[in-house]
Amino acid sequence: GPVIEVRELTKRYGDTVAVDGLSFTVRPGRVTGFLGPNGAGKTTTMRMVLGLDRPAAGRALVDGRPYREHARPLCRAGALLDGRGLHPGRSAYAHLLWLARSNGIARSRVGEVLALTGLSGVARRRAGGFSLGMTQRLGIAAALLGDPPVLLFDEPVNGLDPDGVRWIRTLMKDLAAEGRTVLVSSHMMAETALTADHLVVIARGRLLADAPVPEFIRAN
Ligand code: ADP
Ligand code: ADP
Repeated sequence: GPVIEVRELTKRYGDTVAVDGLSFTVRPGRVTGFLGPNGAGKTTTMRMVLGLDRPAAGRALVDGRPYREHARPLCRAGALLDGRGLHPGRSAYAHLLWLARSNGIARSRVGEVLALTGLSGVARRRAGGFSLGMTQRLGIAAALLGDPPVLLFDEPVNGLDPDGVRWIRTLMKDLAAEGRTVLVSSHMMAETALTADHLVVIARGRLLADAPVPEFIRAN
């Protein structure tokens, strides 16, 4: 599977250095946890990986190229459908069908991702009435639609009940076991160590640690 490479990445917002010369690699076939306190620069880094933000310096590459240079989306941001792309009056089914059509994806995938995310029973309800957990699931369903080899999850367990948290954990592990590249951000070390195989830890936009989880647990 493709590799995500972050090389000497830097991003500033006015006087704030959000990401400061950050370098790390995310490999396929395992879940990589992207840890750091709130404001550490995780979302900014993920946005640059997805080509949504321009770095001041350095590069973010997916499979050796900037994300935007890939003809077909190689990755999708799961759990990032935070109301931005959501049409409250449309059903979950309508959202996914729209995305499938506009991305040339077979409509049979819609039923598949609804089943995968446990949304089959509420597929015809308007998404505006969804709980946070259901909205997260819909975002993940949208992410999975094109069967992407790379998945980025930005704080996916935020606001979820224990069942939802267990579900997302299992899903991320399954996606990695299929050989995909999975990067999940969090500010919760203990929680992330339960899911991830490898941890990249940042603070103030800088790398603090980059190691397999067992190594981490021994060192702390
Ligand atoms: P994290 O995801 O780790 O919580 P962020 O990447 O969201 O961190 O933010 C990193 C830093 O950049 C913070 O200081 C944050 O306030 C700042 N920041 C992020 N986005 C913006 C923006 N659009 N405008 C100004 N400052 C921003
Ligand atoms: P890309 O294909 O580049 O990843 P997006 O999927 O983020 O782009 O969104 C492209 C357009 O589709 C945006 O205008 C966004 O508002 C809209 N959109 C995103 N998600 C949905 C959705 N689930 N249903 C309907 N429209 C959506």
